[in-house]
Amino acid sequence: MSLHFPKIGILGGGQLARMLCLKGHELGVNLYVFSESKEDPAAQVTQQWFQGRADNEKDLLKFIKSVDQLTFESEFIDCQLLAKVLSKTNFNKNGIFPSLNNMETLQDRWLQKNLFKEFLLPTAPFFKIDSVSDIETKGKYFNFRYVLKKRFGGYDGYGTYISKNLKDHQNIIFQLDSTLSGKQNSPVNSLNSKGFIVEEFVSFKNELACQYFRNARGEFYHLPLVESFQSHSKCDWVKGPIQHPNFNSITKKIKTLMNKQNYVGTLAFEFFNTKNGLLINESAPRVHNSGHYSLNYPIADQFSLHLKATNNKKFPSKTTDAKFSFVMINLVGKSNTEIIIPSDLSGFLHLYGKKENRSGRKMGHVNYIDNYSLKNSNSLLKKALTERKKIKL
Ligand code: AMP
Repeated sequence: MSLHFPKIGILGGGQLARMLCLKGHELGVNLYVFSESKEDPAAQVTQQWFQGRADNEKDLLKFIKSVDQLTFESEFIDCQLLAKVLSKTNFNKNGIFPSLNNMETLQDRWLQKNLFKEFLLPTAPFFKIDSVSDIETKGKYFNFRYVLKKRFGGYDGYGTYISKNLKDHQNIIFQLDSTLSGKQNSPVNSLNSKGFIVEEFVSFKNELACQYFRNARGEFYHLPLVESFQSHSKCDWVKGPIQHPNFNSITKKIKTLMNKQNYVGTLAFEFFNTKNGLLINESAPRVHNSGHYSLNYPIADQFSLHLKATNNKKFPSKTTDAKFSFVMINLVGKSNTEIIIPSDLSGFLHLYGKKENRSGRKMGHVNYIDNYSLKNSNSLLKKALTERKKIKL
């Protein structure tokens, strides 16, 4: 395997970019980071940091001219602006992961759900919402049990409105009335004016997730299926591996989708586990919180796999069927004071270097890995949650 890597640039400097940089170091590659502040998590771990704003043409141009390849830590980028900047350079368009075409589809929930439909991937029924009257009609259609989601820019439950009955529905309409009807008059932020989708409220047993990888030669790899538990719409912990009878058939369809879309890089999927089988909630064109356990997983980690996928390197020959149990617990801030970690923590600690703790802010995570025959993931989870209680967040 050639160890040569080109100059790889990441748009974004948060914890996902930081972990890409750290795993890049292990592969002998120093990643270039574009972000606003030198204190950003990824800026702290690279010597190639470029200050800039993702909505500033000049900043983007300077960064793009300094790298051979581009990848993203977030799907919330303005693809049109990026395409405009790229057109002013001789940057090789095959060096963008995922491609801007794929990014444009996946960053928009309406286009993303239509892509699932095209590839026969099971997902909750959905409609496009462009006006308050749309939500009135479709809300009734779903018997007021639905989830309304911003097409662009929603994450961790932000931009998501859940209705379970008529009262919730009326509340949502009240909240949205000004937002949607005022749309035409407001100074247009083209990214936020895309509207919403509405989908059926899904009753699920639990939420599962998996990260998939494809390189330019069409080789395909995936990490194990995991359970991902959300608290306040934010990932709280992950455990695995998980078995599910639908997993192989869904994986086959995802592989077909990635091949047909010529998708190169990481594609993360979140699933609802329902009594009628797996439904896809959403997909993200990047490394994902549900894969952070893999930093200490003995077979492969999502960050190295992403760099291998985007640089057309071979994936590990080992499959992920090996018997390791694992758990990841997120460390989410609860106060404005410094996090205090007990000295006897037995898990693998990963802090993101964020200068300020804040309520609801993802500050780090802890991984626990064990031989399957020694401990199953339930007993690991019990231990992890007990240990987390001793961390002052
Ligand atoms: P999302 O930002 O789409 O991941 O949504 C955040 C969380 O809201 C998910 O992890 C689910 O717990 C919940 N959620 C999203 N969509 C639905 C749905 N259609 N039915 C029920 N719960 C949902």
